Amino acid sequence: MRVAIVSDIHGNRHAFEKVIKAARAAGVDELWCLGDLVGYGAEPDACVALAAEHCTICLAGNHDLAVTGVLSLDEFSRGAALAAQWTIDTIAPEARAWLAELPSTGEARGMGLYHASPRDPVWEYVLSTLAAELCLDAAPQAVSFIGHSHVALAFVREEGAPATGATRHAEETADLASGEWLVNPGSVGQPRDGDPRAAWLLLDTANLEAVWKREEYDVRGAADAIRAARLPESLAERLTHGQ
Ligand code: ZN
Repeated sequence: MRVAIVSDIHGNRHAFEKVIKAARAAGVDELWCLGDLVGYGAEPDACVALAAEHCTICLAGNHDLAVTGVLSLDEFSRGAALAAQWTIDTIAPEARAWLAELPSTGEARGMGLYHASPRDPVWEYVLSTLAAELCLDAAPQAVSFIGHSHVALAFVREEGAPATGATRHAEETADLASGEWLVNPGSVGQPRDGDPRAAWLLLDTANLEAVWKREEYDVRGAADAIRAARLPESLAERLTHGQ
């Protein structure tokens, strides 16, 4: 089976539509979403509708949990809190109710799915080999997919060796069949790894080959929607830089 793994859509309907189209063109059977459908971007309802239609699995991220009232806005940075409040004020009740049903962890075909990390599914940023070691120790699965940092990357620990990690660029591949892995597809709607294109991961569940993918999308359309919603200008600006 071919699966598209997506994360951190963040109300960016333009990017999400493009990724879904690319994933379908690549022949994927299922889409798995690691959370944060909303927050930062200006089209939360459209993103929830796309996830409801296309995603077989969908997790809740910290921004989704802020909008459903599970997390306090005090735990967020100023820009994130402003965007979360805007989302709370504007999201359709049905979309909010749909988000409220989502779990923060999942499992599929023996692989772990976490919004942030295996030891803290909601908040931990896994960006160092130390954090990766601790998360691999905590993970019941050999292969886990994580989001939250908005950086396309992978950490691997081969038998008897320390964990190593690196960011991953478009069309790089990994063979997940041996070793222990933490794999981040990168962010669909707000990349922070210097590549402004929408990120996703193509996974073949038969041989566990993963390919990191990036898609050009209408960045200006997404930025204009953020400005029209009177969300902070920095949220529009960062989309063009991928930071
Ligand atoms: Zn996020």
